[in-house]
Amino acid sequence: MINEESVREKLKKVNYPGFSRDIVSFGLIKRITVSGNDVLVLVSLATRDPAVPRAIHQGIEEALATLEGVGRVEIDFDLKDPPEPVAGNPAAAQTSIPGVKKVIAVASGKGGVGKSTVAVNLAIALSRTGAKVGICDCDLYGPSIALMLGATDQQPMATEHNEIIPIEAHGLKAISMGFLLSEDSPVIVRGPLATRYTQQFLRQCLWGELDYLILDLPPGTGDIQLTIVQTVSISGSVIVTTPQEVALIDARKAVAMFQKVHVPITGLVENMAWFECEHGTKYPIFGEGGGTAEAERLGVPVLVQIPIDIATRDRADRGEPIATLDPSTNPISAVFSVLAEKVMAAVG
Ligand code: ADP
Repeated sequence: MINEESVREKLKKVNYPGFSRDIVSFGLIKRITVSGNDVLVLVSLATRDPAVPRAIHQGIEEALATLEGVGRVEIDFDLKDPPEPVAGNPAAAQTSIPGVKKVIAVASGKGGVGKSTVAVNLAIALSRTGAKVGICDCDLYGPSIALMLGATDQQPMATEHNEIIPIEAHGLKAISMGFLLSEDSPVIVRGPLATRYTQQFLRQCLWGELDYLILDLPPGTGDIQLTIVQTVSISGSVIVTTPQEVALIDARKAVAMFQKVHVPITGLVENMAWFECEHGTKYPIFGEGGGTAEAERLGVPVLVQIPIDIATRDRADRGEPIATLDPSTNPISAVFSVLAEKVMAAVG
């Protein structure tokens, strides 16, 4: 027999385009009406991308075709524009994450400057002080935290209420937005949609009690980044840059973004500041003093400078971050300890 329940069961097999989650659990089904063998489904969607309702329409049609004896199927959409970021009105929207004392955002103007490396090692250095620390990889398009923590074989679990239980690695609780996506079609999750799910995602995680939650923001200063920093109450932000001008131009934009929404800027991290050869000569591969000069211009401190270091890269690739080494014997680990102390001092 066809009834609301049997229709709903079928709809649970339809995933949101680009996600491994279905349209029922996303709460998009507004109404199911069954009369005789005919079915009417009303879907509520907030998107500007016409491909999304098209894909969902087709998915529903295919799913309901497998209902035995089904008659006419009508699918209606209640389409809304996604909410605009509330620029200039941050106080209205910034809320805390349950159980989390301090949220620290790690950002960069451009990709590849070592933002995730800094985020992971900062998290580990903070947890070495005895603090409870979590890290959230907010980068939908290039999540790398799971790899850097050596946790690619772990999958986060969800509770029956759809709360996400973070994985644990190196004493950190960690979650990656990459886990939400199906492997083949991440590109569809764009703009407003990505923004909406990033917000939802952060609050759906069961962090438990955390002293610090590190947000590894996606590179750049687009809508997703802006929405996160506008809607989550952030105690401090660390902006990672390399010393050359092309990176600094974008770091400036990141600073401007945080200033715009009144998020405190803890300071800049100048990564890949030099390379020291085995004879002790330092080569400023990406130029010298760029980060320091820029920080002065912007009126924000340089928290630490990190050299180009082969072990740092190698250990990131192997899922054994450099900060897991004893800071009294490893100079880079020691730099991350200094960074952790400065961040703790700044956010209280
Ligand atoms: P982003 O998050 O800014 O895209 P990543 O943290 O993923 O950048 O770093 C990009 C690459 O550079 C990674 O392979 C990483 O291991 C490497 N890397 C980052 N910082 C350093 C460093 N100080 N020395 C050597 N390699 C580094």
